[in-house]
Amino acid sequence: MSKFIFVTGGVISGLGKGVAAASIGNLLKARGYSVFVLKLDPYLNLDPGVMSPYEHGEVYVTADGGETDLDLGHYERFINENFSKDSNYTSGKIFSNILEKERKGLYYGKTVQFIPHVTDEIISIIKNIEQKYQSDFVIVEIGGTVGDIESNPFIYAIAQMGSEFNGQNTFFVHVTYVPFLETSKDFKTKPTQDSVNKLKGMGIKPNMILLRANHFLPDSILIKVANATFINKENVISAPDLENVYQMPLYLENENTASIILNYFKMKKRKPKLNKWIKFVNKVEKDKKKTLNIKMLGKYTAFSDAYKSINEALKISAIDLNYHIKLDYIDAELLNENNIKQMLNGAHGVVILPGFGARGFEGKVLGALYTREKNIPTLGICLGMQAMTVAQARLKGIKNATSKEFANKNKQETYILDLIKGKKADDQIGGTLRLGESETVFKKDSLIAKYYQTTNVFERHRHRYEVQEKYIPILEDEDFSFSGYHPELKLVESCEDKSKDFYIGVQYHPEFTARPLAPHKLFNAFIKKSANKK
Ligand code: GLN
Repeated sequence: MSKFIFVTGGVISGLGKGVAAASIGNLLKARGYSVFVLKLDPYLNLDPGVMSPYEHGEVYVTADGGETDLDLGHYERFINENFSKDSNYTSGKIFSNILEKERKGLYYGKTVQFIPHVTDEIISIIKNIEQKYQSDFVIVEIGGTVGDIESNPFIYAIAQMGSEFNGQNTFFVHVTYVPFLETSKDFKTKPTQDSVNKLKGMGIKPNMILLRANHFLPDSILIKVANATFINKENVISAPDLENVYQMPLYLENENTASIILNYFKMKKRKPKLNKWIKFVNKVEKDKKKTLNIKMLGKYTAFSDAYKSINEALKISAIDLNYHIKLDYIDAELLNENNIKQMLNGAHGVVILPGFGARGFEGKVLGALYTREKNIPTLGICLGMQAMTVAQARLKGIKNATSKEFANKNKQETYILDLIKGKKADDQIGGTLRLGESETVFKKDSLIAKYYQTTNVFERHRHRYEVQEKYIPILEDEDFSFSGYHPELKLVESCEDKSKDFYIGVQYHPEFTARPLAPHKLFNAFIKKSANKK
């Protein structure tokens, strides 16, 4: 039977519960234990697929095509494991299961209620995962903050699991926040005490408290929290902001986090194999060769979590190659011929970011034309690649080239990109994109094959539009080519200008497979070429 580790959050949101859950997973896996991670999100959408990145940050795509919470990215990067659709459930999904059962009469005439029906549904999801994956540990992170209306059923459900197993198979980690009052130069523990009391009121006594704060907390504060909550002092852990999130597993290792958990479950402590992780983290602290300015051309520029995995993929490659990296977000909508030189001034490299909808697309096309002309290393991802393709069409004289996604009935337009074969315009928008992992075969002599050091890769997708086959011969020339295709469906997967240092677009999302223990080859090549830029 699996052991369950539940991670809840208190006081405020955005504390890094995901990083905490992922770090615990990292430490258990380093000891040879198998780990599965599940994120339960209290909001009512079925998945984050149709939510604005401003609401929710990036939509993380799993290999099997799940559109999931960005915490899944932390889990996969920290634990170096591919998770699946099963790793993310929302209240919306849970209620939809319940309503389906209700229509089938499976509640046999009963009034369907939060307790026991919603809580039972939550418990059965967790137990099904245990059955299906049979991992040593199932780590369950509950989204939101304890005390939110929405998260109550989840808290009651995991409390019920705790009492069902009499505490033997369940371990509760509560992540809270300790504010520092400048005026009195004092850390304040009252919000944490309140939050633990709320949990207790719902039937959970945490086994461990991670106290997030801007600084290290003095022992006196840890003792105060331990005394006020009746939790062992060793199990109250100060978790300050670190220079780099990838240091968190090592920090928690130092605080005996994994040993405490294994001790509790009476499992073998085992010596962790952390050499590779330590090697990567040591690079964070090393002196850097130089700082690279990377301009990120997109539309959700006020909220960098919208591009979380791309940021991380770039940072991981920069750490790996020993550069400092500065990511500078530019709102593509504000770009025009007059200001582009100044807006991209000082760029070692440019990433043309993914996205949906017309806003900012013309700015991305302008950016694609400019960086190509100036030979600034450029990586286009998904909509970014589509912008590079439209830019090429304009260079070929098709001045009204665009994507059908932005069709304007009042204009004469040429759609270089149209819906992927088989997709209809009137499809419902949620869950109907081309999603998940599939194969790409690169042309042998392409630059992208050289950078990947292979002609066959598996990467993840999330799009609805594709380059139209009939335009391929019109757009390709001596320099510009479509260098990668899906082997059977013949969908275009990449483009490049081989006369440039790095001008590559990919229809898929390489950022989802970049890991600290396996920096992504394409991002590494992009960083190297950016570093060489004069
Ligand atoms: N909007 C584009 C499409 O649907 C690109 C999607 C993306 O960038 N993820 O094809």
